[in-house]
Amino acid sequence: MKYISTRGNREEITSSLAILKGIAEDGGLYVPSSFPSVSKEEIESFVDLEYYERAAKILSKFLTDIPENDLFDMCKKAYDKFDGEPAPVVKVDDNTYVLELWHGPTLAFKDFALALLPYLLTTSRKINGSKDKTLILVATSGDTGKAALEGFKDVEGTEIIVVYPNDGVSDMQKMQMQTAEGKNVHVIAIDGNFDNAQTAVKTIFNDLNTIKEVQELGFSLSSANSINFGRLAPQIAYYFSTYADLLGSEEIKFGEEVNFSVPTGNFGNVLAAYYAKQMGLPIGKLIVASNQNNVLAEFFCTGKYDINRKFHKTMSPSMDILISSNLERLLFEAHGRDSEVIKSLMGELKEYGSYELDVEFIDNKFGDFCGYYADEEDTSETIENFFEMFGYILDPHTAVAAQAYYNYVADTDDETKTVLVSTASPYKFPQDVYKCLTDKNESDAEIAIKKLNSYSGDDVPNGVLELFEMPILHNIEIPKEKIRDTILNILKCKM
Ligand SMILES: *Cc1c(COP(=O)(O)O)cnc(C)c1O
Repeated sequence: MKYISTRGNREEITSSLAILKGIAEDGGLYVPSSFPSVSKEEIESFVDLEYYERAAKILSKFLTDIPENDLFDMCKKAYDKFDGEPAPVVKVDDNTYVLELWHGPTLAFKDFALALLPYLLTTSRKINGSKDKTLILVATSGDTGKAALEGFKDVEGTEIIVVYPNDGVSDMQKMQMQTAEGKNVHVIAIDGNFDNAQTAVKTIFNDLNTIKEVQELGFSLSSANSINFGRLAPQIAYYFSTYADLLGSEEIKFGEEVNFSVPTGNFGNVLAAYYAKQMGLPIGKLIVASNQNNVLAEFFCTGKYDINRKFHKTMSPSMDILISSNLERLLFEAHGRDSEVIKSLMGELKEYGSYELDVEFIDNKFGDFCGYYADEEDTSETIENFFEMFGYILDPHTAVAAQAYYNYVADTDDETKTVLVSTASPYKFPQDVYKCLTDKNESDAEIAIKKLNSYSGDDVPNGVLELFEMPILHNIEIPKEKIRDTILNILKCKM
């Protein structure tokens, strides 16, 4: 399997090189030259496999220059770090299931890729004989940062720098990052929102002068954001795993389509589901769930992608995003892999903050998707109602997906079995979740966790309360214009 850029440079590269580079030099994203298919028999054979084996099998179809045995070892090591079953599917009623993707070390679904990426990257360095150290540069809306810090801490030959918006993450997310340990980890807060952080980081990846300076300091740049194909590939696996679990528990028959409702920000998670469908997994609709920052929900309804709007800070901060990078990969497929169109659309987005496709084109080409959104009030009510109905506490991101699903059903009467993709533990957002459930304010995170715990009777996940005992190790705060200089200074200190 080879990889090409969405923006026109036709050069085909190996999977290990695509992982090392993270983003193409022409500014495009790497995509596989074709989608491997998975047979009915193979999907059925997953029923008897452990999660890590399912993951390794899916990865081996994409990462063909990494030996399959190595992939099994890596997946075993990565998913052993999870607390119990990595991706359990919980039934809430006859039609609805919750896929819990937050049993990893940092309590959000980003762990699926970021527990694995360091191994993929280390192996890719070996395969390509790279002598440079790798600089992992990450922009985060909250969860990627900690998951990447955890995954890459003390990994030989790497430095990791995480950039987060100072006022754009939850208290728990901030604390997780500020207490991150490791000789090679750096955490920077900037004034601005996630889009500012992501744009600044992307600019560095496309700025030849900076790349050269970084190289002269002995590093090559890579990304742990979902623009890196090495982030996407592991996410495809849990859709297959979910399907196998539903087959195994006889909730569905083979071939029966299943819908997924996916809380969406940068479009990585739901894109992985689309890739799974391209590979032959029987998926019906993909419900793209947005919060109040409903650019994507609107795009799938109207064809207009427009970021010229108010930016809302919500209680689902990991989805407070206007520029969804991975949509570029879907646009590339929808336009028959015509990179000229992609260049022009991305050019318009950069220049005017918007582009528009025909509604007819949307109906024809994006039939797999539909977009819905939940505002803050809807989200809050959903958390409360879901707990009343099912005794199950949703985090705010998952609640957005649940509400989007209910809106979809109200519109369509679709009775297809649907999986709500749960991307974070409610304990990552304890003050907000507690407020939604009880209508009581509790501004202290630690107390909110304890109150939430006694309210629900659930266990507090490992590591949550320990966080409050840990020293703050990172508190650099800079204006966003200083990101480049700050990064170079960090590297100089490492010489
Ligand atoms: C990152 C994140 C999302 C958004 O996922 P994308 O792949 O960026 O669309 C949703 N929920 C949580 C909790 C996240 O951390």
